[in-house]
Amino acid sequence: MPSGAERSGVVVLAGGTGGAKLARGMLDVVGPERLSVIANTGDDIEIYGAHVSPDPDLISFWLADLIDERGWGLAGDTFRVMDGLRALGVDVWFNLGDRDLAWCMERARMQREGMRPTEALRALCEQIDVGARVLPACDTPLRTIIDGAGLQEFMIRRGGQGPVREVRFEQQGEPQATPEVLDALAGASCVIVGPSNPVISIWPILKAIGEPLSRQQAPIVLVSPVVGGKIVKGPTAAFLDTFNHPLSAAGVLAFYEQVAPGLIDGVLTDEELPGELPCLRAETLMDTPDARAQVAERTLAFAESLTSQRPGAGPRAQ
Ligand code: GDP
Repeated sequence: MPSGAERSGVVVLAGGTGGAKLARGMLDVVGPERLSVIANTGDDIEIYGAHVSPDPDLISFWLADLIDERGWGLAGDTFRVMDGLRALGVDVWFNLGDRDLAWCMERARMQREGMRPTEALRALCEQIDVGARVLPACDTPLRTIIDGAGLQEFMIRRGGQGPVREVRFEQQGEPQATPEVLDALAGASCVIVGPSNPVISIWPILKAIGEPLSRQQAPIVLVSPVVGGKIVKGPTAAFLDTFNHPLSAAGVLAFYEQVAPGLIDGVLTDEELPGELPCLRAETLMDTPDARAQVAERTLAFAESLTSQRPGAGPRAQ
């Protein structure tokens, strides 16, 4: 276990949008050596002979400044394979750019040849010069199922519309944190729960790494995904509603208390947060590179001002 002085890593837990933007801001603040991003794999899907891993991939594209303006896929990608499939009468319900498809086919090939998803993503990331570590939360399949359908089917065929009755996970055995994730957590001076959908982006990560996180010595800080009382993008409100929590920072925190009691040591939010938990009230919208870096900087300074309250966490410098 590294000593306090050696623990300078920053770990961000992220889905593909809010958490990914915070990760990009954090890259500016701490640089690639110190940054590890633990990514949700609950959205993964095997399709077109490829293994698509949307959140780890979007985070990688964000960190390499290759993300397209639409918020997913590679900048300037073309869609000729999808056009070709349509011309063959295929129901192309899941859209993937040509270079994106190549990335996901190459992942599938490496995994067929025996690489773990973590290793395959590392090899892909080397090709686009991602210096930080993008780590799938686990290497075994863990799929989020919404009302009986896969996450992508829910998002695309149902337009991501609630109400949602049930969220469950299909998994092979108990998902385990990977050696790379354990290493990143052991070297972390703080862990940031990114402003991602708490139910479908962060909960699957907690399924895999909740146990080591509960022993984490470094403070764990949540950045609220609720901005000005609203969601910037996606179905976070519908999923909070499934668990009877309101759309607010308090509602997001209540969900985390429900699935991982005592996990969060502090919250960064633009709202007033009732209760005892340390809270830094600040703007969290990350619509420009400056705003992303500013939110990351504030989050880091706030996290570094806190001490973890988890039992057994003990003093940080030992
Ligand atoms: P997904 O995998 O694409 O659904 O991405 P995430 O779960 O990471 O992101 C969805 C969440 O990001 C939503 O709850 C948004 O409100 C939140 N979000 C998006 N942009 C921002 C932002 O600039 N600031 C904050 N605080 N949250 C954001």
